[in-house]
Amino acid sequence: MSRVLIVGAGLTGSLCACLLRREIPNKVKIVVWDKARGAGGRMSTSRSPSNATCTVDLGAQYITATPYYAQIHRSFYDELLAHEILKPLAAAVEGMNVKEEGLRNFVTPKGICSIVKHYLRESAGAEVCYEHHVTHIRQRGAGWEVQRAGGPAEQFDAVVLTMPVPQILQLQGDVSSLIDESQRQKLEAVSYSSRYAVGLFYDAGVQIDVPWAAKYITDNPCIRFISIDDKKRNLESPGCGPSVVVHTSVPFGLRHLEEAKEEVEPLILEELQKVLPGLPQPISVKCQKWRYSQVTGAVADCPGQMTLLSRPLLVCGGDGFTHSNFDGCIESALKVLDVLKSSL
Ligand SMILES: Cc1cc2nc3c(=O)[nH]c(=O)nc-3n(C[C@H](O)[C@H](O)[C@H](O)COP(=O)(O)OP(=O)(O)OC[C@H]3O[C@@H](n4cnc5c(N)ncnc54)[C@H](O)[C@@H]3O)c2cc1C
Repeated sequence: MSRVLIVGAGLTGSLCACLLRREIPNKVKIVVWDKARGAGGRMSTSRSPSNATCTVDLGAQYITATPYYAQIHRSFYDELLAHEILKPLAAAVEGMNVKEEGLRNFVTPKGICSIVKHYLRESAGAEVCYEHHVTHIRQRGAGWEVQRAGGPAEQFDAVVLTMPVPQILQLQGDVSSLIDESQRQKLEAVSYSSRYAVGLFYDAGVQIDVPWAAKYITDNPCIRFISIDDKKRNLESPGCGPSVVVHTSVPFGLRHLEEAKEEVEPLILEELQKVLPGLPQPISVKCQKWRYSQVTGAVADCPGQMTLLSRPLLVCGGDGFTHSNFDGCIESALKVLDVLKSSL
C-alpha cells in the first residue's frame, strides 16, 4: 500500500486527505503532519486561556460564495450545510463588500476550524499527527525520506506540501535542488499580506453594546476589522461571555512584522480603545501574528498545484497556487488530487 504524506492540516491539506480517501478508498495509507498543536492553519479556532469552552476565530472569519463558485463547488457547500457546519450569515456586518451581486455569506457556529475538522474526520483511517514540523525532504530510491524536528525520519511514496509558499522554500534536503529556475522564479514571486489578530475574551454576563456583529474600520491606521465573534457566529455558549476579534490593517502588520507579538499587542489594544471607547476589560487576550495572511499574488501559470517531481511524487498546493479563501483551497485540493490519482 502506498504511503502518502500530506504536510499541513489546514483547509487544503485536510481536503486533500478527505478527497483522496473518497476517491481511492483502500489503496493508500494517508498520513497528515502539521507543526501546530491542532488542526486549522489559518482557519484555526483559538480557545480562551481561562475557559477552554470559549473560542474565537483569529484567522478566516466567514465563507463567501460567489455565484460562480456556489455553482461549481455546490457539493462542498451542500455537504457543510447538511452537517450544519456552515450556516447563512444572519448578523449585520458593517462595511462589507457588497459590490458583487449574488454573494452568499456563511458562518461557522462551532468555529472556522470545524470545516477543517470535518474533512479530517471524513479522511477515515488517516493518521493525523500534530507537533510534527517537517524540516528536510530527501529522495531515497523510489520514495521520500521526510525528517521532522525532534523525531525520526520516515519513508513515504508521495509527499504533498500545503503550507504557504515561503515555508516550502525554507525546506532543506533535496527540495531546493529539485526546483528548476523557472519554478523558483514563480515561487519566489508569490506575495502575501501580513497582519496581526487579537482575540479578547470576556466574563459571562458582560454586554458589548454595538449595533453590528462585525465592522470594517476605514479611518484608523491600526485597526481594519472588529467582530463580536459569538454574535457573528450566532453562537450561544453557556458559561462564556462575548469574544471579540480584531484584525489590524496590512500596513500596520508590515510595520511591526519583525517585533515580538507581546510588544505589538498593547499598541493594538490602545487603538481599540479609541475605536470602541468604553469597551470593558477582557479576562484574557490572545495575539496572533499572521506573517502569511492572504495571498496577494499567487504562483503564476500553475493553477492549483506545482509538481516538483513526478516519480516519486512531490507536489505543492495550497492557496498560494489559487487565492485565499474556501474556494481557492478547494480548487487547489482538486488539482492536487488529479496529480495524486495519476501517480498512485
Ligand atoms: C487574518 C485572516 C483572515 C482571513 N479571512 C478569510 C475569510 O474571511 N474567508 C476565507 O475564506 N478565507 C479567509 N482567509 C484565508 C484562509 O484562511 C486561507 O486561504 C486558508 O486557510 C489557507 O489554507 P491552506 O491549507 O492552504 O494553508 P494554511 O491554513 O496556512 O495551512 C498550512 C498548514 O501547514 C502547516 N505547516 C507549515 N509549515 C509546516 C512544516 N514545515 N511542517 C509541518 N506543518 C507545517 C501550518 O501549521 C498550517 O497548519 C483569511 C486568512 C487570514 C490569515
